[in-house]
Amino acid sequence: MSTGLVWDEWYMWHDTGSAAAFLPAGGPIQPDTHAENPEPKRRLHNLLDVSGVLDSLVSIDPRPATREELLRFHTPDYVDEVAEQSEGTGGDAGELTPFGPDSYEIARLAAGGVIAATDAVVEGAVDNAYALVRPPGHHAEADVGRGFCLFGNIAVAAMHAQAEHDIDRIAVVDFDVHHGNGTQKAFWDDPSVLPISIHQDNFYPPGEGAVDEVGEGDGHGYTVNVPLPPGSGVGAYETTFERVVLPALDAFEPDLVYLGAGVDSGAIDPLGRMMLHSDGYRELTGLLLDAAEEHCDGRLVAAHEGGYSSAYAPFSGLAIIEELRGETSDVEDPFMPIFGELGYQELQPHQEAVIDDAAGNLDIALR
Ligand code: ZN
Repeated sequence: MSTGLVWDEWYMWHDTGSAAAFLPAGGPIQPDTHAENPEPKRRLHNLLDVSGVLDSLVSIDPRPATREELLRFHTPDYVDEVAEQSEGTGGDAGELTPFGPDSYEIARLAAGGVIAATDAVVEGAVDNAYALVRPPGHHAEADVGRGFCLFGNIAVAAMHAQAEHDIDRIAVVDFDVHHGNGTQKAFWDDPSVLPISIHQDNFYPPGEGAVDEVGEGDGHGYTVNVPLPPGSGVGAYETTFERVVLPALDAFEPDLVYLGAGVDSGAIDPLGRMMLHSDGYRELTGLLLDAAEEHCDGRLVAAHEGGYSSAYAPFSGLAIIEELRGETSDVEDPFMPIFGELGYQELQPHQEAVIDDAAGNLDIALR
């Protein structure tokens, strides 16, 4: 098994400015570090390095997505607006998406990184790949940046895969704690791409990602949302995979699978309110890899999304990448003795009710 890794130091130079959590400093908000800062991702890369895992990965060089590639999803006006602001001192791409100088190029390199990972997997240079890119992508919509995301990294890469490779059907499984609204909107009426978002109920964006959002037109039944209650742990996520994600993939039979690898559904994430831990992420990744093996020769491309705990995101990310690689390192997650024993890690009845609602929606198109 060979696993590719997309990484570039330049990703870490995307500047989200001074903020408290996700709100820009100013007025009553004292200047502080933005939640979406380089540290969690840089520390994940450093942990890959010191654990020795980095040496076992195949380095994939990112390249900037071209304007034409971005325009498969985004509007020309939006792309021009980001480019223009980026040439100056930066700005905001829309909603809660601040950026500094050169972020247009860095965001193009992020989308292009997921494209490069896709090419490597589809062309067989590697079995699967992890794109450790920044800024993240799943909130970006066609004409607006949202939630720290400038361009839809996975959406743009999936459209590239369909346009440039012999790939028809694509599944996107997104376990970031926030709803994958951008990916959903990109393929809302498209039955050839199946976005499955597992997220904290009514979190961000507010009012989006309800269980009854299932796509429209030809795409009716080809969007799946599982809005889990806050406090969901490993049991809720395992059950979601067993009853929703895996049956949907079995029915859909994808040619390529993307994983929206947000690790902000982990315990102690400062933004999320879920309780996953590294063993949980490892297990979910393994289940997804098995499904990819069954349906599409294991073709799986993971793209990093959110994850805001500098302390813990590295261990969650390491577990996902080790599972993709099919080998563990000597590093044991030092937080597991505590996070593995958190109360209510097992499936709770109110969580099961939501999961069964989502499973019921599979009857529309996917059973
Ligand atoms: Zn997130």
